[in-house]
Amino acid sequence: MKKDNLWIESFVVGALSMRCSVITDLSSGDTVIIDGGAESSRIIDWINGFSGQGPDWSNGPKNHQELSQHGISNRNVIALVNTHAHFDHSGEIPYLLNEYNVSWYLHKDDFYLQSLVQSSARRWGFELPEPAIADELLHDGMELKLGSFTFKILHTPGHTLGGCCILVDVEDGNSHIFVGDTLFAGSVGRTDLPNSGGDFELLANSIITKLWPLDPSTIVHPGHGPKTTIGTEKTSNPFVGVSNL
Ligand SMILES: [Zn+2]
Ligand SMILES: [Zn+2]
Repeated sequence: MKKDNLWIESFVVGALSMRCSVITDLSSGDTVIIDGGAESSRIIDWINGFSGQGPDWSNGPKNHQELSQHGISNRNVIALVNTHAHFDHSGEIPYLLNEYNVSWYLHKDDFYLQSLVQSSARRWGFELPEPAIADELLHDGMELKLGSFTFKILHTPGHTLGGCCILVDVEDGNSHIFVGDTLFAGSVGRTDLPNSGGDFELLANSIITKLWPLDPSTIVHPGHGPKTTIGTEKTSNPFVGVSNL
């Protein structure tokens, strides 16, 4: 897609400061929510009416007037997609589905983990609604066409069995990838969390084989902490950077 049409908003939500990304194609108004884990009413209020606190970071419109300059009066949420099923990333999917009545996409290898979100959250002292069940599957290498978007899905197990990264190719600028807890700025996801199938060797192999071949300028949106780039992490990540292997 074209750089000027790609509107990305980051909402840092919940007690674990998880990044929920809201992605809109400004040529169509089509909107996809990645990792709706917490603070769903804040996200809904902003998407539907630019009201409330809004995002922590955005590269696009901040009110209806700015949105209308793109020929759009309202956004159209067309799907929910998850990088993985830990409760901080998926706990409020039921509330988002209730609002938008769209499909929810998740890799099937995280279905068991997803079934446990209430008990996982309780260990941290949080109450969550009855877990949602994903109705659409993510597969490695698939081109996921949603409205006017085409996403590339990369299955990157290691933090969880079903962990996936979601790539948005930009023709005339930096591409963007939403990696969940697979890769962080200067770190990688934990591999010791219960019921997740975490495995450092598997995680490192996923990153090296699936992420390092991407264009180095690709902007990485991790599930926690600051954004980074594929090039920066490939060069200098202390766990999986090429100079540390
Ligand atoms: Zn996680
Ligand atoms: Zn997380």
